[in-house]
Amino acid sequence: MGIKVAKFGGSSVADAIQLTKTKEIIEADKNRRYVVVSAPGKRYGQDNKITDLLYLCKTHIEHNLPYEQVFQVICDRYMAMEINLGVNVDLLKEFDEIKRNLQEGASSDYIASRGEYLNAMMTAAMLGYDFVDAAGLILFSEKGRFLEEETNKALGDELKKHERAVIPGFYGTYPDGKIKTFSRGGSDITGAIVARAVSAEVYENWTDVSGFLMADPRIVKNPKPISRISYKELRELSYMGASVLHEDAIYPARVAGIPINIRNTNRPADPGTMIDADSGAQTDQIITGIAGSKDFSVIAIYKNRLSQERGFVRRLSSILEDYDIAIEHMPSGIDTLSVVVSDKSIEGKMDEVLEEIKRKLEPGSIDIFDDMSLIATVGAGMSKRLGVSATLFTALAEAGVNIRMIDQGSSEMNIIVGVETKDFDRAIQAIYDAFV
Ligand code: ASP
Repeated sequence: MGIKVAKFGGSSVADAIQLTKTKEIIEADKNRRYVVVSAPGKRYGQDNKITDLLYLCKTHIEHNLPYEQVFQVICDRYMAMEINLGVNVDLLKEFDEIKRNLQEGASSDYIASRGEYLNAMMTAAMLGYDFVDAAGLILFSEKGRFLEEETNKALGDELKKHERAVIPGFYGTYPDGKIKTFSRGGSDITGAIVARAVSAEVYENWTDVSGFLMADPRIVKNPKPISRISYKELRELSYMGASVLHEDAIYPARVAGIPINIRNTNRPADPGTMIDADSGAQTDQIITGIAGSKDFSVIAIYKNRLSQERGFVRRLSSILEDYDIAIEHMPSGIDTLSVVVSDKSIEGKMDEVLEEIKRKLEPGSIDIFDDMSLIATVGAGMSKRLGVSATLFTALAEAGVNIRMIDQGSSEMNIIVGVETKDFDRAIQAIYDAFV
């Protein structure tokens, strides 16, 4: 049997009770040789994540406010874990050092990373595994670009020396040794990088849900779980808002062909979702999942004989680029072209952008449709079947949802529809009912 890398997210390592569950999981399979941990997350709804508290300490210092109380809350949580687990990791020495660095102006990346650092030490002590720091092994360039090949080599060489190890998630180092973190939720990325470095058979990502669901449970009651999904399908769903895994965690696993298994620490018997290269593995299922995202606007441009013009799309894109606005979709007709942009990216710039479009493109008319939501129906199984769009559009029509835009990726793996935000939930429910 091959090596398994198990990454545990914040809620799986939030306190001694949760850590004890992770211990049972790890000990249940001797192939779980490399473990990656997040910082302790929330223990209950109103609780604080350690990472947030660490950032807060840094903010207090920057504003010359006392930070000691917040720091003490962090120390108390780790000390309670140390006592309840019956391990000894010399926390006081670590706290002193972190405090000293804080006072000497250490970066917020350094401060934030200490959550994972301390937790990995604690977990290693609990399991009797080696602690292997990510500093000096997960490598970034001076400009902060993740160096994947250099990291793969350095980490692979180091982990060969350790039969079993715990590695802190979320951070690595610049060439000068200073700490650099990934974006929030980045321990998922570390887990995938470790899995690649040790050529794992599977990358297990343990969290507090039993994998991906076919639709958002806040909208659809008891949606079916997704047992298998391809990397590509997941990318489409994540892009549209289905979030369980950091999207940058997919790439390292994918290049190495390592499947990712999303599992639930609180329900370890559940099989979870398996993410791999196989598309359409759920053969009886036409669609794999539905995801949606709110707050988009459509800028619809009409110009007589637009289709005959050269460079129209380029000029339009360059206007949006000048204003740092990403184009989400670009549905077109013969003499019309629309761009779908997120409200967030165009906030406060709409008037200026429209002026520029009028000046540089001389359109016949421009219409703005705001309050749009996008819904992606994703499934590798869709392309081979007849009547998928018919089913989808009929379902929406019967539910009284007016479709404002349709876009289908060339992979034919998804159909995206734009609907008014007031119809968002109804549309998702209707699509779900039609296919599932
Ligand atoms: N602790 C970090 C965060 O809260 C990273 C992680 O948990 O993945 O974002």
